[in-house]
Amino acid sequence: MEKTDGKKQLGIYLHIPFCKRKCLYCDFLSAPAGEETIEAYVEALCRQIGKEAKGFVDHKVRTVFVGGGTPSLLTPGQMERLLSAVRSGYDFDDGAEVTAECNPGTLDGEKLAGYRRAGINRLSIGLQSAHDGELESLGRIHDYRTFLRNYDQARKAGFSNINIDLMSALPGQSLESWMDTLEKTAALGPEHISAYSLIIEEGTPFSDRYGHNGRESGTGKWPPLPDEELDRKMYEETERFLRKKGYFRYEISNYARPGYECRHNIGYWRRTDYLGMGIGAASFADPVRWKVDSDLAEYLSFFSDESCEDEKNPGGIRREVQSLDERERMEEFVILGLRMTEGISLPLFLQQFGIPFLEVFGPAVKKLETEGLLAFSQEGSRLHLTARGIDVSNYALAEFL
Ligand code: SF4
Repeated sequence: MEKTDGKKQLGIYLHIPFCKRKCLYCDFLSAPAGEETIEAYVEALCRQIGKEAKGFVDHKVRTVFVGGGTPSLLTPGQMERLLSAVRSGYDFDDGAEVTAECNPGTLDGEKLAGYRRAGINRLSIGLQSAHDGELESLGRIHDYRTFLRNYDQARKAGFSNINIDLMSALPGQSLESWMDTLEKTAALGPEHISAYSLIIEEGTPFSDRYGHNGRESGTGKWPPLPDEELDRKMYEETERFLRKKGYFRYEISNYARPGYECRHNIGYWRRTDYLGMGIGAASFADPVRWKVDSDLAEYLSFFSDESCEDEKNPGGIRREVQSLDERERMEEFVILGLRMTEGISLPLFLQQFGIPFLEVFGPAVKKLETEGLLAFSQEGSRLHLTARGIDVSNYALAEFL
């Protein structure tokens, strides 16, 4: 457990479940909503932030992540109220990383300047593709020009730590088109780039078109999805290309200039405690995991007035509460830690669990090492996935379960 000033570190996640319109591939907990609903939700979220604080007095907040959905639908005033509630309720580190996810088409210079004043110091902008045809096929609300304008406004508003989210393996996408998106993105010089492959999720319009896992791709009137080989090629070329441009892969799908890795996400992979608030948000206070109820009406009613502070059980909106046993904690340590290219520390494992790592996972390590998917470094004190291991990470990580 990492500590600051003798206190446990805490990441705070605030979920904003609203979007202008639903993208065709998206199964996140988000939906369009009117201004009144958004305002009522911000009120309720501020109450939850205040109420949960009692349970985290022995923690120091190192990161805050306002995610969604589309947090950039909030006014600067609403963002300011949320962050003030965090600052006043918790022991807040002055140097905390405070990220807001934003979508092009919901931003302007004034809003961005207001976010900066509210204390946001990192933006994560969902571009996905630099090609308007691809953006349209995803059902995104923006075009590339709008993104460029918003990116420029963000820099002018003083944001010096920006992530750009990209997505490969899109319908009809060629390797050339993906590389062009990467080229254009890197040329802008953001500090961080996330590059994920499109996944066809059940219950989305894309799964109606392409079938579960894209199995029916190419059989109908829609542009086909890239096959597995092309998907893998895109992934490999991404790493090669971004490395040349000074971006280093520090996690399976995340690249950064040195010093700009996302501290909030690293907290997830290192199993630092985090508190998620807002509907559907997940939390972890070792060894317990839970989620907030996903029903918006229930959430708004639960936090409808100040009385929730005193009269209602703080656990009343917690769902899927699970206390991990020792074996599950060890498995998480490995599976989350190996997502990062620096891998896991074996002395840290011994310190946390009181048993040598190889005594627990020796056979899995031996098998994956023989297959060239796992390797030791720093005189045997660390273990990480090799480049080939990262390519087949789902298979490799499953060996530890
Ligand atoms: S903007 Fe993001 S969260 Fe909203 S619908 Fe699109 S993919 Fe989903």
